Amino acid sequence: INILAIESSCDETSAAVISGGKILSNIIANQTVHEQYGGVVPELASRAHQENIVPVVEAALQKSGLQKSDLQAIAFTQSPGLIGSLLVGACFAKAMALALDIPLIGVHHMQAHVLANFIEDPKPRFPFLCLTVSGGHTQIVRVDGPLQMTVIGETLDDAAGEAFDKSAKILGLPYPGGPLIDKYAKEGDPKRFKFPEPQIPGLNFSFSGLKTAILYFTQQQEQEQPGFLAANMPDICASIQDRIVTILMNKLVKASKETGIKDIAIAGGVSANSGLRNALTHYGEKYGWSTFIPKFEYCTDNAAMIAMTAHYKYIAGEFVGWDAIPSARAVFG
Ligand code: ATP
Ligand code: MG
Ligand code: FE
Repeated sequence: INILAIESSCDETSAAVISGGKILSNIIANQTVHEQYGGVVPELASRAHQENIVPVVEAALQKSGLQKSDLQAIAFTQSPGLIGSLLVGACFAKAMALALDIPLIGVHHMQAHVLANFIEDPKPRFPFLCLTVSGGHTQIVRVDGPLQMTVIGETLDDAAGEAFDKSAKILGLPYPGGPLIDKYAKEGDPKRFKFPEPQIPGLNFSFSGLKTAILYFTQQQEQEQPGFLAANMPDICASIQDRIVTILMNKLVKASKETGIKDIAIAGGVSANSGLRNALTHYGEKYGWSTFIPKFEYCTDNAAMIAMTAHYKYIAGEFVGWDAIPSARAVFG
């Protein structure tokens, strides 16, 4: 089965080709226009998608070595995401499927993040747990089959990626700040500053208190000692990252204990974080888990994961009609 997949939920325009469950190409165009605004501007994201989509799809096809006539389905991210961004991918996918007279597959973006773990070996066995941590979501997902997923824990306020990005903003770092905190953290002492761990019952998360604590901490330190921030950036970043990672890992340990599941995966943009990647490996050794981390380029938004999900949906016969509409929010389906 040959499928072309399109991802346009946020600020990456991406296209991938999958053949028999193997990724042949995965082209990603990052939008740089948002940097100057300190966050993604939805209107500008839609326009950039509109500009990028044709060249990105052409590049993906060319790299795959397949012709348009070799394709058997077109897949697109249907939800969740920015509605204007999703519409660009959806309209393009519909037009292409209609022109080629092949079926259309609508993909849930968060399900796709989880299935990024199936792009390369070794693959987790069912059932497994996936900690999906991205710019808009923080979830612990119980995965019983490629398309059978249940969210068993999630954030009550900010996502883990937002916690990174908002902390970075407080520290005066440019958007998106997550990768920069990661970079500084590598040279810092993670135990130098103690930020609070929220006490949230069950498997849910909260990150908004941490953000406030960091804001008060930096304001106070800077007032007492001007230049404190700049002088201590590595230690501050390492301490923030350490706290976010321990919040995530403590809930993951709890979820594993409660479910008895020991195949543990991570996914989403924040799974690119080196502190989290190291922690997963470390905890895995401690608790006897088999751990799974997607390759770096399959962690942040990409169409390869949409293609992987579409592959399973094609096998299951899950197609959408011409009246399919994207939605900004959607539960797992
Ligand atoms: P969602 O998937 O919830 O719709 P999204 O698609 O915007 O949101 P992703 O592209 O999966 O999110 O992830 C982007 C997030 O990942 C950003 O918050 C970014 O800061 C964070 N991120 C990326 N790399 C790192 C890193 N090395 N360390 C920490 N955070 C990172
Ligand atoms: Mg993004
Ligand atoms: Fe994402």
